[in-house]
Amino acid sequence: MRLAPARSVVDSEEERALTDPFGVEGKVTIVTGGGTGIGAAIAREFALRGAPVIIASRKAEHLEPTRDALRKAGGRCELFVCDVRDAAACEALVGEAVRHFGRLDVLVNNHGASIAAPSLALSPNAWRAVVAINLDGTFLCSKAAAKRFIEQQGPGCIINLSSIAGIDGSSTMIPYAAAKAAVIKLTESHASEWGPLGIRVNCIAPGPIETEGAASRAWPNERVREAVRLSRALGRFGRVEEIAYPCVFLASAAANYVNGATLVVDGGRVREAEVIQALAK
Ligand code: NAP
Repeated sequence: MRLAPARSVVDSEEERALTDPFGVEGKVTIVTGGGTGIGAAIAREFALRGAPVIIASRKAEHLEPTRDALRKAGGRCELFVCDVRDAAACEALVGEAVRHFGRLDVLVNNHGASIAAPSLALSPNAWRAVVAINLDGTFLCSKAAAKRFIEQQGPGCIINLSSIAGIDGSSTMIPYAAAKAAVIKLTESHASEWGPLGIRVNCIAPGPIETEGAASRAWPNERVREAVRLSRALGRFGRVEEIAYPCVFLASAAANYVNGATLVVDGGRVREAEVIQALAK
């Protein structure tokens, strides 16, 4: 593992593109939802490559074990308790990154939440909560980060987590699918708004990834779990690091010309009729 101080990425970006195009060493990185599941893996992969990391979410008990494990492994990690629906908290989160590490280079909007319920049973509050976390939270964190990137006179990098539900829709997680679709368009909009300022904004749309949070919400029993597995051309669930690695790529100089993209990381799709046939065997 290589550790490095949070040096000026602005000064070294061109040099880095030549010498270490896939590196993120020294890039100060915020990972929202960074205490659990995919977010914890993203935080780990950045920290182990020498990026100072701040992980943030609502519950300290989600963040503390991840921070402690990363520090034990030799990484630089701080935590910040906040709710991404609160604009002032998002500003404070960026302030914490600057207070601890002197600057901000990368924001990973990994936070997310969903409710599985039929539309007719969904209360306005439940709809609002899911859209507010997934969409408003991504906008508010992005705005706070972009403000800082502009103060630093660029560059900056934002990576948003959408979902294949945001591409295909979902018959069970309606507000989640709608909000994740909007995250893809927010990505494209911010990429074109902020690209001229040197801020790249990209998106990853994961397929089914083995995490506790997703398992309880999206494949709560063995029958659904098997159907989800069969729906992937690779015939398996994804692993958390298989989302973290593309995040590292998108934050690295190797992706310096990638802006406004949505990278689908889902193991490949099998047609629904073929899944039904396979389940019937
Ligand atoms: P997870 O473990 O449940 O992660 C969600 C994280 O978001 C938690 O750490 C949670 O922490 C945080 N969070 C929720 N509401 C928040 C709020 N209001 N403010 C701040 N943080 C908040 O689920 P995951 O599977 O790792 O998912 C990570 C991301 O990938 C999500 O955006 C998800 O939609 C996306 N994704 C996952 C899959 C999959 O199959 N796993 C597939 C497609 C997309 P607190 O509870 O402490 O706030």
